[in-house]
Amino acid sequence: MSVTGKPPYDPQNVFARILSGEIPCKRVHEDAYALAFHDIAPQAPVHVLVVPKGEWCSAADFHAGAPAQEIAGFWHAVALVARQLGLEENGYRVLSNMGPDAGQEVGHFHVHIFGGRRLGRMVPPGPPA
Ligand code: 5GP
Repeated sequence: MSVTGKPPYDPQNVFARILSGEIPCKRVHEDAYALAFHDIAPQAPVHVLVVPKGEWCSAADFHAGAPAQEIAGFWHAVALVARQLGLEENGYRVLSNMGPDAGQEVGHFHVHIFGGRRLGRMVPPGPPA
Protein backbone atom coordinates (compact mmCIF):
# COMPACT_ATOMS: atom_id res chain seq x y z
CA MET A 1 0.00 0.00 0.00
CA SER A 2 1.17 3.53 -0.76
CA VAL A 3 1.14 5.84 2.23
CA THR A 4 2.99 8.92 1.02
CA GLY A 5 1.74 12.43 1.69
CA LYS A 6 -1.50 12.72 3.65
CA PRO A 7 -3.30 9.55 2.61
CA PRO A 8 -6.97 8.92 3.27
CA TYR A 9 -7.42 6.90 6.45
CA ASP A 10 -9.46 3.72 6.02
CA PRO A 11 -11.61 3.45 9.17
CA GLN A 12 -12.20 -0.23 8.38
CA ASN A 13 -8.53 -1.22 8.70
CA VAL A 14 -7.90 -4.08 11.10
CA PHE A 15 -6.26 -1.97 13.83
CA ALA A 16 -9.14 0.53 13.76
CA ARG A 17 -11.46 -2.42 14.32
CA ILE A 18 -9.28 -3.67 17.18
CA LEU A 19 -9.27 -0.17 18.72
CA SER A 20 -13.07 -0.03 18.52
CA GLY A 21 -13.38 -3.46 20.14
CA GLU A 22 -14.97 -5.01 17.04
CA ILE A 23 -12.03 -7.43 16.68
CA PRO A 24 -10.56 -8.97 19.85
CA CYS A 25 -6.89 -8.76 20.75
CA LYS A 26 -4.54 -10.01 23.45
CA ARG A 27 -4.04 -6.64 25.12
CA VAL A 28 -0.87 -5.90 27.10
CA HIS A 29 -1.33 -2.16 27.73
CA GLU A 30 -3.77 0.65 27.10
CA ASP A 31 -3.71 4.33 27.98
CA ALA A 32 -5.02 7.61 26.54
CA TYR A 33 -2.56 7.54 23.64
CA ALA A 34 -1.88 3.94 22.73
CA LEU A 35 -3.03 0.33 22.70
CA ALA A 36 -0.51 -2.53 22.78
CA PHE A 37 -1.39 -6.12 21.94
CA HIS A 38 0.27 -9.36 20.82
CA ASP A 39 0.77 -9.81 17.07
CA ILE A 40 -1.50 -12.52 15.66
CA ALA A 41 1.48 -14.11 13.81
CA PRO A 42 4.46 -13.64 16.13
CA GLN A 43 7.93 -13.62 14.60
CA ALA A 44 9.79 -13.74 17.95
CA PRO A 45 9.04 -15.06 21.45
CA VAL A 46 7.78 -11.55 22.21
CA HIS A 47 6.09 -9.73 19.31
CA VAL A 48 3.84 -6.92 20.43
CA LEU A 49 2.24 -4.17 18.35
CA VAL A 50 1.74 -0.67 19.69
CA VAL A 51 -0.77 1.56 17.89
CA PRO A 52 -1.73 5.16 18.58
CA LYS A 53 -5.38 5.85 19.31
CA GLY A 54 -5.61 8.53 16.63
CA GLU A 55 -6.34 7.93 12.95
CA TRP A 56 -2.84 8.01 11.46
CA CYS A 57 -1.90 5.94 8.42
CA SER A 58 1.85 5.64 8.83
CA ALA A 59 4.97 6.85 10.64
CA ALA A 60 5.25 9.74 8.19
CA ASP A 61 1.63 10.76 8.60
CA PHE A 62 1.77 10.46 12.41
CA HIS A 63 4.97 12.42 12.95
CA ALA A 64 3.99 15.15 10.48
CA GLY A 65 0.49 15.65 11.76
CA ALA A 66 -0.06 14.49 15.33
CA PRO A 67 0.11 16.96 18.23
CA ALA A 68 3.37 16.79 20.18
CA GLN A 69 1.57 15.48 23.27
CA GLU A 70 0.18 12.57 21.27
CA ILE A 71 3.59 11.74 19.80
CA ALA A 72 5.24 11.88 23.24
CA GLY A 73 2.43 9.83 24.79
CA PHE A 74 2.73 7.17 22.12
CA TRP A 75 6.50 6.74 22.49
CA HIS A 76 6.21 6.77 26.26
CA ALA A 77 3.80 3.83 25.92
CA VAL A 78 6.25 1.96 23.65
CA ALA A 79 9.04 2.21 26.23
CA LEU A 80 6.69 1.34 29.09
CA VAL A 81 5.40 -1.78 27.33
CA ALA A 82 8.94 -3.00 26.59
CA ARG A 83 9.88 -2.49 30.25
CA GLN A 84 6.73 -4.21 31.52
CA LEU A 85 7.39 -7.17 29.22
CA GLY A 86 10.79 -7.58 30.92
CA LEU A 87 12.76 -6.85 27.75
CA GLU A 88 15.15 -4.18 29.00
CA GLU A 89 17.83 -6.49 30.41
CA ASN A 90 18.49 -8.47 27.23
CA GLY A 91 17.24 -5.82 24.81
CA TYR A 92 14.61 -5.56 22.15
CA ARG A 93 13.93 -4.16 18.69
CA VAL A 94 11.35 -1.51 17.78
CA LEU A 95 10.41 -1.47 14.11
CA SER A 96 7.87 0.36 12.00
CA ASN A 97 7.13 -0.46 8.38
CA MET A 98 6.25 2.61 6.35
CA GLY A 99 4.96 2.20 2.82
CA PRO A 100 5.48 -0.37 0.06
CA ASP A 101 9.26 -0.85 0.21
CA ALA A 102 8.95 -1.74 3.89
CA GLY A 103 5.92 -3.95 3.27
CA GLN A 104 3.45 -2.08 5.46
CA GLU A 105 0.29 -4.19 5.48
CA VAL A 106 -2.03 -2.34 7.83
CA GLY A 107 -2.81 1.32 7.16
CA HIS A 108 -2.87 2.44 10.78
CA PHE A 109 0.51 3.57 12.15
CA HIS A 110 2.05 0.96 14.43
CA VAL A 111 5.37 -0.20 15.78
CA HIS A 112 6.44 -3.77 16.38
CA ILE A 113 8.33 -4.65 19.57
CA PHE A 114 10.40 -7.82 19.14
CA GLY A 115 12.32 -9.58 21.90
CA GLY A 116 12.99 -12.77 23.79
CA ARG A 117 15.82 -14.05 21.58
CA ARG A 118 18.82 -12.82 19.58
CA LEU A 119 17.11 -11.10 16.66
CA GLY A 120 19.87 -11.33 14.07
CA ARG A 121 20.29 -9.04 11.10
CA MET A 122 18.33 -5.84 11.08
CA VAL A 123 17.54 -6.09 7.35
CA PRO A 124 17.63 -9.24 5.18
CA PRO A 125 20.50 -9.28 2.69
CA GLY A 126 19.77 -7.80 -0.72
CA PRO A 127 21.25 -5.51 -3.34
CA PRO A 128 22.41 -2.18 -1.81
CA ALA A 129 20.99 -0.17 -4.72
P1 5GP B 1 2.97 -4.40 9.02
O1 5GP B 1 3.46 -5.32 7.94
O2 5GP B 1 1.83 -3.54 8.57
O3 5GP B 1 4.08 -3.61 9.66
O4 5GP B 1 2.47 -5.34 10.19
C1 5GP B 1 1.15 -5.72 10.37
C2 5GP B 1 1.13 -6.76 11.47
O5 5GP B 1 -0.19 -6.90 11.92
C3 5GP B 1 1.61 -8.15 11.03
O6 5GP B 1 2.73 -8.54 11.83
C4 5GP B 1 0.38 -9.03 11.27
O7 5GP B 1 0.72 -10.32 11.76
C5 5GP B 1 -0.41 -8.24 12.28
N1 5GP B 1 -1.85 -8.46 12.23
C6 5GP B 1 -2.64 -8.45 11.12
N2 5GP B 1 -3.91 -8.67 11.44
C7 5GP B 1 -3.95 -8.80 12.80
C8 5GP B 1 -5.02 -9.04 13.73
O8 5GP B 1 -6.20 -9.17 13.38
N3 5GP B 1 -4.67 -9.10 15.04
C9 5GP B 1 -3.37 -8.96 15.46
N4 5GP B 1 -3.14 -9.04 16.78
N5 5GP B 1 -2.36 -8.73 14.61
C10 5GP B 1 -2.65 -8.66 13.30
